Amino acid sequence: MSDPQISIDLARIEHNARTVVDLCKSYGITPFGVTKGTCGMPQVARAMLRGGVAGIAESRFENIRRLRDAGIDCPIMLLRSPPLTRVEELVRTVDVSLQSELQLMREISRVAERLGRVHDIILMIDLGDLREGIWPSDLIPTVEAVMALPGVRIAGVGTNLTCFGAIIPTQENLTQLVAHAYKVESITGRPLDWVSGGNSSSLPLLLEGGMPAGINNLRIGEAILQGGRDTFLTEPWAALDRDAFELTGELLEVKTKPSMPIGQSGIDAFGNVPIFVDEGDRLRGIANIGREDVIAEGLMPTRPGVRVLGASSDHLVLDLTDADPPLAVGENVSFRMNYGALLTVMTSEYVEKVPMRDVCETGESRTYAIETDAIGGALIVVQNIAERIDHLGFERSAKEDALTLSVCARRGDVIRFVEDAGRRHDALGMIWIDSDAAMMPDGDRDAPPAENAVLRRMLDRLPPHVAPENIVLIGLRNAAPEEAAALKASRMRIFTMAEIDAVGLRQAMRDAIAIASAGTCGFHLCYSPTATDMSGWSGGIGGITVRETHSAMEMAALSGKLRSLSVSGIDAALPSPIGAECANFILSAFGKTIL
Ligand SMILES: *Cc1c(COP(=O)(O)O)cnc(C)c1O
Repeated sequence: MSDPQISIDLARIEHNARTVVDLCKSYGITPFGVTKGTCGMPQVARAMLRGGVAGIAESRFENIRRLRDAGIDCPIMLLRSPPLTRVEELVRTVDVSLQSELQLMREISRVAERLGRVHDIILMIDLGDLREGIWPSDLIPTVEAVMALPGVRIAGVGTNLTCFGAIIPTQENLTQLVAHAYKVESITGRPLDWVSGGNSSSLPLLLEGGMPAGINNLRIGEAILQGGRDTFLTEPWAALDRDAFELTGELLEVKTKPSMPIGQSGIDAFGNVPIFVDEGDRLRGIANIGREDVIAEGLMPTRPGVRVLGASSDHLVLDLTDADPPLAVGENVSFRMNYGALLTVMTSEYVEKVPMRDVCETGESRTYAIETDAIGGALIVVQNIAERIDHLGFERSAKEDALTLSVCARRGDVIRFVEDAGRRHDALGMIWIDSDAAMMPDGDRDAPPAENAVLRRMLDRLPPHVAPENIVLIGLRNAAPEEAAALKASRMRIFTMAEIDAVGLRQAMRDAIAIASAGTCGFHLCYSPTATDMSGWSGGIGGITVRETHSAMEMAALSGKLRSLSVSGIDAALPSPIGAECANFILSAFGKTIL
């Protein structure tokens, strides 16, 4: 092994999340899992979600982007105020955030209003820990000022303890929080969604049965990740597993040396005057881990008898005299870490992160099928699509759960494929990416819908397992007035180009996936190339960009909910570069990424 590694046991993290969630549930508390200790590692977030947390809380936008890019579409909470320059990103990517400064909330409101949204906030109240929070005497005026802001909604109140002033959560201070919550409810005249009673350090109180009624949320990181190594220092909570993370380095040197340095002593590389105890000659080892990677004081060797003596930038100095069994040059040494050490290891780019025991997402199909008409078949052959899908690790299969790709010339022909997909899957949503709604109502109400009124015909005879509430139309930019009326009357969710300009395609697609997946076994994705603005082609002018189209397809793939995909609206006259681009979109929907 060359570089140091940290192994991350996802099954242990899932177990801890479930243990915390189960305890919380019995007291009416819905916890969020905090992934900041792992820099928002998507596998860790998924493990927490499998364990039952209601959402993920994070402190940094970079981490939130990692989570969203990985297709994690659960509610996300931002744990601190954003800088003023990143308020737009906050409104776009985060579902709820912790806030304490009026000036910032004004800016959030202004930006949210511009984007046509309302941002949920949890007002933080300082109960004495002296980190973030509104001072209790300022609470009422602050609430009144926030109520005048149209772009923010007070979704709750919360507090943070033990982080700066080391103030412990108690029945007294959390009862104060509940009292503040009642006050806010009486001013706003509506119940709060969240009364958020702190972080892992609130768990001992919960275990003792001392949590006041009225607290309904906690934000738990350390106890899930580290099994409460820091939270339950003196009396561990035995149900939690403390060994999810292990740091491993290699011994570069092992020699017997005196325990006292020789020569005139000054200050060390970090400005400290080191103190040594003379223990005579000792067997010492040096591992390839340093202060660049970790707070060495937070390391706990797993091998009995090994002691950490200190560290410089790149060397960890160990006493190996009593190691049992003994250690030699070239062998690995491993460590558990406290939370501070874990944070530094996870941010060190020199340490390789190795997630273990990841669970394959259920319902993910690695088999596929293709159905086409003559023109669609020609596109498949010319662009070599089947072989390229095989290269992504898919296998062609006639099984029911195969991801089905259909390609056909006329939009109207996709109805057959959607009906087939509806039959195969118990309940199915649909995402339709197109410039046109294909909803044209007819002059004569009793006449069958016109051939080009595809969605209209589909809504008229939806297969029993597809509900209009699970259908989303994305990218609409042409609609005749009478068609607009029909669209409004339908129960579909429609993202017009104007709305995509306002919220961004990624946000629209995220919402679309959530709507199409709500209570279904997944969704069918219909794509028409006129949705995309491709250079040199008049069909898609004014649509979403090529990159955005790829992004939508990749998000569909990452969601794990894509059950079938159809591409239609390609006629024989389609210029071949456009056909090639469509083939690339299909591959993105099968999970192809640039790297
Ligand atoms: C980090 C943080 C948490 C999570 O703390 P843990 O001790 O890891 O559970 C909760 N709330 C806020 C505001 C935080 O900054």
